Amino acid sequence: MKYDYLIVGAGLYGAVFAREAKRAGKTALVVDKRDHIAGNVYTEQVEGIHVHIYGAHIFHTNDKEVWDYVQEFATFNRFTNSPVANYHGELYSLPFNMYTFNKMWGVVTPEEAATKIEEQRKAAGITDPQNLEEQAISLVGTDIYEKLIKGYTQKQWGRECKDLPAFIIKRLPVRLTFDNNYFNALYQGIPVGGYTGMVENMLDGTEVRLGVDYLDPANKAELDALADKVIYTGPIDAYFDYKLGNLEYRSVRFENETLDIPNFQGNAAVNYTDAETPWTRIIEHKWFEFGKDADGNDLPKTVISREFSSEWKPGDEPYYPVNDQKNSDLYQEYKKLADAEGARVMGGSDSHGCSKAKPPVIFGGRLGEYKYYDMDQVIRAALDRAREELKTK
Ligand code: UDP
Repeated sequence: MKYDYLIVGAGLYGAVFAREAKRAGKTALVVDKRDHIAGNVYTEQVEGIHVHIYGAHIFHTNDKEVWDYVQEFATFNRFTNSPVANYHGELYSLPFNMYTFNKMWGVVTPEEAATKIEEQRKAAGITDPQNLEEQAISLVGTDIYEKLIKGYTQKQWGRECKDLPAFIIKRLPVRLTFDNNYFNALYQGIPVGGYTGMVENMLDGTEVRLGVDYLDPANKAELDALADKVIYTGPIDAYFDYKLGNLEYRSVRFENETLDIPNFQGNAAVNYTDAETPWTRIIEHKWFEFGKDADGNDLPKTVISREFSSEWKPGDEPYYPVNDQKNSDLYQEYKKLADAEGARVMGGSDSHGCSKAKPPVIFGGRLGEYKYYDMDQVIRAALDRAREELKTK
């Protein structure tokens, strides 16, 4: 059996590509080294609760086409992310909005809040923010930076805020309104029944082989011979056997607990923003689905995950690319190698009709492109790339 595409990785990028290939009448084989599909959006049921095994994923987008696209594969609930920040037991609303400013300073009007932020920005002498610390202070002032950003960011990234790019904090809205919605997105929700079902629907009709490590030298040549082209969604540096050096990633470790109580923290996400608490946040998964089971009954137990951030080392799961200058430069070098793999032209075939040359490779996804993608951005990137490749645009 020969396939048009070998897709390495059954996460969102791979699943969307597989779906589009199928729609275009092409054949694809999907392989994943894990024993499950859905990559890091994988969810698993525990006590009737869909647990986000690789960390919380809240789907949000401004891209109407992507929103319409995912509706084909899942029904989304009306979950709106409103995390709470816990700073040594003081609770603040996130993202930074009038509730946060009122609690921090006692200010009541948007004008008072804006004045306070401006005073603190001026006192810090920041005009043209060059890094995350300066960007944060210039957006929300020193008090909020110290209590809600500094400790959390340093725990999450294992780096000083001064050494991190400003764009990371720009992911978060700052609002002079009373609005605890964490995202500035027109569309938001969680797939009813979990993400795994959604990805399963995307992969419907496509052959998937699990527990298959493409990069294992015992497998690679054999798998390459099965397809005309490879879509690779694993880490780009691993593909090249780290020959230019390791790209840095942050990894995350979860301590999961099932508790015999109905309500642990009253919210899906509580961020521990001080530097002393070792975890960055606690997720209470049942609140992604309003504490109910599929029939609308209250769930008696709860599952929580404490999230610990660490520097990635070989053998760990990579989660977040570290998009500082050093790593971005190294990625550009790997990208040149990747582009050459993509431009490769297939050679002749042997007596069995099998190609002798290695197939060209397209790199995609958070790991393949070393990019801090959100789910909707991954889907957009996969759709665009697939349409270009399949000429279905
Ligand atoms: N952040 C923070 N305090 C918080 C939440 C987020 O300082 O309570 C900062 C932190 O630097 C983080 C960035 O905002 O890396 C982006 O947060 P986001 O929630 O988007 O990260 P993700 O959900 O991808 O882990």
